[in-house]
Amino acid sequence: MSEDDETTPPTFIPQDEPFRWRGVTELRYKQDDSSPFSDVTRRVLFDVDRGLGIRVRYSEVAPGGWSTLEHHGHAHEVIPIRGEGDILVQDHLVHARPHDLVYIPGWSWHQLRATGDEPFGFICIVTAESDRPVLPTPEQIEEIRASGPEVAAFIRH
Ligand code: MN
Repeated sequence: MSEDDETTPPTFIPQDEPFRWRGVTELRYKQDDSSPFSDVTRRVLFDVDRGLGIRVRYSEVAPGGWSTLEHHGHAHEVIPIRGEGDILVQDHLVHARPHDLVYIPGWSWHQLRATGDEPFGFICIVTAESDRPVLPTPEQIEEIRASGPEVAAFIRH
């Protein structure tokens, strides 16, 4: 592996500013405009070209923002590193702070929201082969709401 081999991913990527890494660009959170969300950004820290069979992303939800209420066959491993947030995992909410560990199993309804004045930033690990997120139908939204008043008040769609 020579240093000028452009196909070799970098072995070191410094953090130039807090939660901003050199050469890691901010991406649209969703490619699909029909998915509702508010104030979420996404960055790919380690892409599938690293050969581990996973993609490691960093997402930030701005204060007051929320990610898409969705589910899909692949699981998420979520490690908050900035701010605080509430996370819906299927039928209950967890409050997550930096360095907590949150597992979102495949086909669990999930949504993340920032709580407090700081952006809620988290590492999110997914398998390289990820299926397309599915949004809830109106009937499924009612089922999610039926999980309890806290969940009913939490969800945005
Ligand atoms: Mn998801």
